[in-house]
Order: sequence, then C-alpha cells, then structure tokens
Amino acid sequence: MSTAYCDLRCLRGHFLYLYLGLLLLLIPGEAYEKLSEDTLKALPRPSQDFDIHTGALFSPILQPRVPGTPGHTAVLEHFATFFRTTLPEWQIDFQNSTSKTPVSHGKDVPFVNFIAYRDPPGTAKGDVGRLTLVAHYDSKLEPEGFIGAIDSAAPCAMIMHAMRSIDSALDKKWAAMEAEGMDLLDEHHGIQVLFLDGEEAFKEWTSTDSLYGARSLAEHWETQMNPAMSTFKTPLSSISLFVLLDLLGAKSPNIQSYYPTTHWAYQSLGALEKRLRSLGHLKSTSTDPWFIDTSKDSHQVMAFGGIQDDHLPFLARGVEILHLIDFAPFKGFPSVWHTADDDAEHLDMDTVKDWSVLMTAFAAEWMELDGFLDHGDKVRREEDLDESEAIRLNKKTEL
Ligand SMILES: [Zn+2]
Repeated sequence: MSTAYCDLRCLRGHFLYLYLGLLLLLIPGEAYEKLSEDTLKALPRPSQDFDIHTGALFSPILQPRVPGTPGHTAVLEHFATFFRTTLPEWQIDFQNSTSKTPVSHGKDVPFVNFIAYRDPPGTAKGDVGRLTLVAHYDSKLEPEGFIGAIDSAAPCAMIMHAMRSIDSALDKKWAAMEAEGMDLLDEHHGIQVLFLDGEEAFKEWTSTDSLYGARSLAEHWETQMNPAMSTFKTPLSSISLFVLLDLLGAKSPNIQSYYPTTHWAYQSLGALEKRLRSLGHLKSTSTDPWFIDTSKDSHQVMAFGGIQDDHLPFLARGVEILHLIDFAPFKGFPSVWHTADDDAEHLDMDTVKDWSVLMTAFAAEWMELDGFLDHGDKVRREEDLDESEAIRLNKKTEL
C-alpha cells in the first residue's frame, strides 16, 4: 500500500490507531526521564549520619529488632521520627496484624508494617500510582544478637536517604507545574515507602512461618477499596512498581533480573550504575557490573519464583515487581547471610552509600525530577556539616 493513497478501509484503520493512541495518552502509565550528567554528579552521598556507631540515620537501625521486642519498637519509632522531622510532607501509616508463630507458645505476636507516602498536592488518594520502595525491618531471632545489617537494616537506610534526597525536588516540580497552570491530576505519580515486618521465619522457613507483614498487607490492600470512580480501585493497584531491596550492603553484589515486564526498569538501574561509575560518583570498586542481566532482552529473562521474599504475596496479586537481591548462581547469597557476621562491621560502606545514590537516581528518574534537584537539598554534604551540628543531629534521634 502506498502512503499517498488510502481507501475507506485504510482510513478506518488510521482512525483506529488515532483512537488507540489517544487512549494510551489518557491511561496513566509509567513515565521515566533520564537525569542529565550534571544532575547525576550532584546527587548527594550519605555522610556522617551513615556512621555505623554514631550516625543519626543509620546506627539506630543496627540493633536486634525481633518482632515484639524493645529493639523492634525503637527502630519503628526511629522511622516515624525520621519521616515526621525530615520529611514532614509525607503521610505516615501503620498497618497492624497479629499472628502466632512456631515459638510463641500459642500467643499472638504483633506485626507492624510502616508505610509512608507522598502524592502530588490536591490529588485524590485513589488517583495516584506510586513508585513503591520496600525493605523489611525485622531481624531474625537466631543466632542470638543477630543484627541483620544487609538483612535489611542497610536497605532501609538506603531508601531513607533516597527519599530525603529527592523530597525538595518534588516540592519544586509540583510548584512549577501549579505555577504553569498544569493540572496535577494529570501527574499521577506519587511515591511510597514500605518497611515491612515479620519477613524472617522464627523457626524454619515455611509458607506460614515467614512474610508475616507482607502477607497481611497484600491481603488488606487487595480488599480495601479506594473511593468510587478512582483511577485505581485498591491501594494494591495503586502500586505502579514494587521495588524490593534485600540483602544489600556486601561488596560486589550480583543482581539478577527476574521479571520480563519490569526488565526495562532493571535495565534503567543498570544504565544508571554504569553512568554513575563512569562519572566517578560511585566509590566502591567492582570489577563486574552489579546488574548482570542488563544486556539480556526481556524475552531472555526467566520469571523465576525461586527466591522467597516479601514480594511474593504482591506478585501473586498481579503487582509489578523489581526484586533487587544479591544472589547469583553458584555463589548464592552474600557469605554473611543469616550468620552472626551479618553485622555493621562486615558491611562494605562504600557499597552501602553507592546503593543509596543509585536508588536516589532511580527514584529521581521515575519521578522525572531532572532540573529540580540541586546541591542545596535536605542532605548536607560532609564538608558543610560542622562537628557540633553533627553531634546535635545525632542526639536528636537518640532513642
Ligand atoms: Zn533474612
């Protein structure tokens, strides 16, 4: 068929494409905008408050936090304090459940999922799809005194750093849109953090002795309805992408891609790692790229359900998942996994900080923040922070 001539049937075809095109424009989808080189170079790295002994952000998480114990309550309180003081525009929620465990002697153990989210101003709750960053904050009962630094204290801290690093850029972006008279309802992008409870088994991993918090939240959010006529029917369908971070903080991680439908997002992280490394903004030394499947196309990615983790109850309900976990065939999980050595001292702090920068970059690209991020963000650079102020900030979150 020539392009110069078109009969009626062909015209109908054109209208159909036009209609489908318009329809696609109206459906809120994932937008994603690459950050410029200048923006990437200026992304803040964590500094003193990631110190494993005294750091106001990180050190309070590095303690045993078995559900139902004082350490667990203290860490939950630390998250709430952080969001209330550093990110006051965020909404905070707690989702509670109880369950017996194989070691609770018939008693109910409380589980509390921590939820924080931020939507564009003036938008109705059910009309916003949220990039959702997830880690579990409970720690394993055994071995005694287990810290769980990579599992998953460090992933929680990485997410906290990423959120504070983009927060004022969200203010600026949404204010600029309002100033231009743009309808923020068209901006369907919000952002959400889930710190899930009860991921670890108390005795031995089974379908009932594990994922206590994730199972409860997925079930709750599937049945809780958003207001009538909402774009998204349930809080579960409001999750545009569920990014689960687990077992991160050891040197030279191997991150596989597990799901064809989110492989594009995995590849975006791989591209960011490469760009940040070439700009010298990642400090860890790594001979191989972290994202080992970046060159695969989505058809080569196997939907692999082999790793049991907090994403499973969400995956089973159709949520799009990106699972960032350090695991590779023949190597397995990091060597400290579920041993007494998974403590603060065994972390590779350059890697922990690099992950924090990488997740900042990914969230910023997802939220399309290029041009709104700058050096004067809420994260102070090491050189800007004098010692007395560092001490004051540390004291502020002492628990
Ligand atoms: Zn674990």
